[in-house]
Amino acid sequence: MNYFSSNFKLGILGGGQLGKMLLNETRKFDIQTHVLDPSNEAPCKIACNLFTKGDLMDYDTVVNFGRQVDILTFEIENVNVDALETLEKEGIKVYPSSKNLRVIQNKAKQKLFYLDHNLPTSEFSRFAYASEIEDAILNGGLKFPFVWKSAQFGYDGTGVKIVRALEDLKGLPNGECIAEELVDFKNELAVIVARNPNGEIKTYPVVEMEFHPEANQVEYVICPARIPNEVAEKAQEVALNASKAYNHVGLLAVELFQTKEDDILINEVAPRPHNSGHQTIEASYTSQFEQHVRAILNLPLGNTNSKVGGIMVNLVGAEGHTGDVIYENIDAIMKMDGVTPHIYGKRQTRPFRKMGHVTIVNEDLNAARRIAEEVKKTIKVISK
Ligand code: ADP
Repeated sequence: MNYFSSNFKLGILGGGQLGKMLLNETRKFDIQTHVLDPSNEAPCKIACNLFTKGDLMDYDTVVNFGRQVDILTFEIENVNVDALETLEKEGIKVYPSSKNLRVIQNKAKQKLFYLDHNLPTSEFSRFAYASEIEDAILNGGLKFPFVWKSAQFGYDGTGVKIVRALEDLKGLPNGECIAEELVDFKNELAVIVARNPNGEIKTYPVVEMEFHPEANQVEYVICPARIPNEVAEKAQEVALNASKAYNHVGLLAVELFQTKEDDILINEVAPRPHNSGHQTIEASYTSQFEQHVRAILNLPLGNTNSKVGGIMVNLVGAEGHTGDVIYENIDAIMKMDGVTPHIYGKRQTRPFRKMGHVTIVNEDLNAARRIAEEVKKTIKVISK
């Protein structure tokens, strides 16, 4: 099929920042795009060929949108998966597949998938209702501490809680959930795998999340991870095996724990471009966004090597600020060596909202890390 400067249409469900960065690549290749998103102010609106406002969870909306495109992809997991299945049956290519999204959308199904495919993950129990957890504790079937996770619709930590005593269970939503062993990890790592329908498969280098010592928030994504080669190789192998087990098409971002014993466990996966791959825009031969386009269009995959060390800092709304956004001191960080800000195009800030990110590249990763700290101290996302 001819995708370039043609009538071919790529549909994207979701019009947020991941979609916007994907559209930089479709613009580069002159590929036509349609985007569906519930917000009239979606970041994608400025860069797609056709924008449709609509509910991503509504069956009819998604089916009608999908029927107008040749290949459909998504930049967010919370979309109507029954609609994707209908579209596949009608012959529209949906990548990643509805089958994989159905497993990934539900953390209980996802964990069972790893068990069934002999992929390493932490121990867990599955509950149809959170109210059943207490019984399991009282009859000795479950021990503190553990991690409660809502099976569906959690994101950025909202559906996750460490439970150390019975009272921690109070107030949890009473839906399907899992109770997972609390992993005493040394590092949180991630590997992005790209695979096309021909089965060509490539991994990006392992990245490391560095956490703020007190606030339990990722501060820096560091590429490459500062870990021994054997551990990096093991992490890449686990990620490759996960992508193969899913028969995945597109990007699969595999979030991993490196345990104290240097074992690698899968935490969860995301079937799309991922926060842990933003540094690839400046630091890699092929950005994760270009790679996603190549993979879903069954084009040859690009080189995943890094050209230079890269660090990513998220720009989130400062506490105590809600309203029209200002990026305070953005000119000061742009004076620093190898620093590129990405502004997602959301007019309104609120505490912790993801508003953009900054990439720092440097031949010397330690220098990049020092500059990243300066960036973090200098720029503030505040309101007028
Ligand atoms: P989300 O889907 O909201 O990103 P995650 O499952 O990635 O949720 O969990 C969020 C964070 O909680 C992880 O990045 C990690 O720091 C911590 N976490 C999750 N599961 C475990 C676990 N089993 N043991 C220890 N920490 C965990």
